[in-house]
Amino acid sequence: MIEIDGSQGEGGGQVLRTSLALSVVTGKPFRLFSIRAGRKSPGMKKQHLACVRAAKQISNAEVSGDALDSTELTFTPQGIHPGQYRFTVGSAGSAALVYQMVLPPLLHADRPSFVMIEGGTHAAWAPPFDFLQHSFIPMLERMGASVTLSAERLGFYPAGGGLLHARIHPWIERHPFKLMELMSSSLSATAYISNLPRHVAERALRKVKQAFVLDDDLLNVADVKTAGPGNALCIYSHSNQVTEVMTTFGKRGRKSEDVAKEAIKAMLRYLDAKVPVGEYLADQLLVPMALGAGGRFRTLEPSLHTRTNINTIQRFLDVEITCEEVEGAWEIEVEKGSGSAGA
Ligand code: ATP
Repeated sequence: MIEIDGSQGEGGGQVLRTSLALSVVTGKPFRLFSIRAGRKSPGMKKQHLACVRAAKQISNAEVSGDALDSTELTFTPQGIHPGQYRFTVGSAGSAALVYQMVLPPLLHADRPSFVMIEGGTHAAWAPPFDFLQHSFIPMLERMGASVTLSAERLGFYPAGGGLLHARIHPWIERHPFKLMELMSSSLSATAYISNLPRHVAERALRKVKQAFVLDDDLLNVADVKTAGPGNALCIYSHSNQVTEVMTTFGKRGRKSEDVAKEAIKAMLRYLDAKVPVGEYLADQLLVPMALGAGGRFRTLEPSLHTRTNINTIQRFLDVEITCEEVEGAWEIEVEKGSGSAGA
């Protein structure tokens, strides 16, 4: 049984999700203790329990400790069982984070799966749907995986109620991943609003227009109907190599202009660094690269979140993951080992 300390590094929910995903893929059981010890309210919340239950279903696992606020979990998977699933996170808990967890195991199944996930599609501290669709999935396809993702409904914080549809095919050919350059890129932005006045979106876009001197046809208002009021701003950087998406989320009492400022700041940081892979995409690429054929990419300075994820991956898989500063940027390399890892 692999013993994992959930307080390591950032001490957040990623240690749990990565452990669940890699346990199911490798068949290695684990015990995770001090779950989310680095957070104000430690232990598993609805969001994390939804991941445990999804992992349990797809692997027919034996599980103990899967309760709200629990700080310890043992998980023993029994195979990977592809099929049709519907998982519900509840409220605006992120559907994307359940997707992040079920994706690696189902890519390793012997048949395709169709998964519906109900929850938030645009919630803070999680990959928004736009990012998965435009940024992450094309990168996964470059590694040889075949998946599709669509949103039947969107769901914003706090009401949630979105519905993702994911098709995940067995991953047959695994290609090394290499992404070192960001050639010229062009920008566009979408301001989402649901059950809110149009000026909320227009004010955010005005800020983006001023910051990046964009034509109006590159600025879109997406007025969508969801379970409750909500808004989000996505700024896209498009290049031949990669699409990056910087997203910020509105909440009651937060000015539209402030939502815009935060996304603009994130995009400027990315563009100034002249690297192809942003902070969050770096996080998402590591597990598939470690399971696939490895590779290398240039990115911003790895966050504590990224470094914590690297440590967790190396507890399950025989891979060497190195982060190196090269001429003001960072390069992350994932090299496959020859044996099998585990603690
Ligand atoms: P906790 O409450 O413990 O933090 P969590 O499970 O909600 O738990 P994290 O451990 O912080 O959250 O993980 C959040 C995940 O969402 C990470 O994979 C991170 O890369 C991703 N993420 C967060 N914000 C964004 C964003 N704006 N765009 C893309 N991905 C994001």
